[in-house]
Amino acid sequence: MKLPFTLAKRFVAGEEFSTAEEKVRALNEKGIKVTLDLLGENVRDRKMADETVQNYIGLLNNIEAAGLKSSISIKLTMMGLDIGQEYCRDNVFRLLDVARKHGQFVRIDMEGSDYTQMTIDIFKEAFKKYGRHVGIVIQAYLHRTKEDIRDLAEIGADVRLCKGAYKEPERIALQNMDAIRDAYKEYASVLLEKTTYPRIATHDDELVNWVKQYTDEHKIGKPRFEFQMLYGLRQDTMEQLTQEGYNTRIYVPYGIMWVPYFKRRLMERKENIWFVLSTMFKK
Ligand SMILES: Cc1cc2nc3c(=O)[nH]c(=O)nc-3n(C[C@H](O)[C@H](O)[C@H](O)COP(=O)(O)OP(=O)(O)OC[C@H]3O[C@@H](n4cnc5c(N)ncnc54)[C@H](O)[C@@H]3O)c2cc1C
Repeated sequence: MKLPFTLAKRFVAGEEFSTAEEKVRALNEKGIKVTLDLLGENVRDRKMADETVQNYIGLLNNIEAAGLKSSISIKLTMMGLDIGQEYCRDNVFRLLDVARKHGQFVRIDMEGSDYTQMTIDIFKEAFKKYGRHVGIVIQAYLHRTKEDIRDLAEIGADVRLCKGAYKEPERIALQNMDAIRDAYKEYASVLLEKTTYPRIATHDDELVNWVKQYTDEHKIGKPRFEFQMLYGLRQDTMEQLTQEGYNTRIYVPYGIMWVPYFKRRLMERKENIWFVLSTMFKK
């Protein structure tokens, strides 16, 4: 059964670029930067993966033509990671060739734990070749992150730190929210101390306040990092942080393949389910 888009419109900026563009412009006018994500994942045939690369190149061109303050986020399973690691890497490089020409930035999102090592490997190769044009995401809930974060900080990687959105077993990931928050704080401090511009991605007040206090106490200036949140969640908080002088960026997903992203948002917080249910009863 095809779900109607109206269910997802709180979390997804539109099915087309033109709809998302208006939302991005409105955020930019409030001083908030954006990372645009053309939704989709787990592409299993080469034709579709090749099309995805072309679509992302089109997105970079559109961002430039529209003059938006937006970078892009990609998922490697959309660029053919399930087909082959080298094939996927070559696709990422094709995209990064264009991104570099545009002076743009491509963030590689982190997916489920089956892909963590391959994602880090491809990122490292890309980082060697494209430097400041590419970044990665690290999930605080994974046990392996203790080592990964130091390793990535050591090479000066541009890291977005998030808690982690995929269901993982206990042997792979922390399950308890307090333990995940403690891990998040530990890793955020490593990034803030050792990298030039970490991205703090969370809607959690406890973590936002902790980062504010930590950076204040350690004399880490507001221009040295940014807060990131997802489209449709806590925009008032983002506006407030922007007014306080923090750098802010909202992750704006759009596109016709919105169902898996939408489901993750619903699984994450029961309040999100209530929100969707309430939109079903509104005109
Ligand atoms: C910019 C961005 C990019 C991301 N990229 C990835 C990625 O590449 N890979 C990945 O696995 N995950 C990614 N995530 C998702 C992330 O891993 C978490 O699943 C998600 O952010 C939920 O964790 P949280 O810390 O934001 O808040 P939660 O753990 O959901 O909530 C913690 C507390 O925060 C407060 N809170 C949360 N949401 C709200 C709200 N809407 N209104 C009011 N209070 C709220 C509440 O007090 C709540 O109890 C990304 C998240 C962001 C923000």
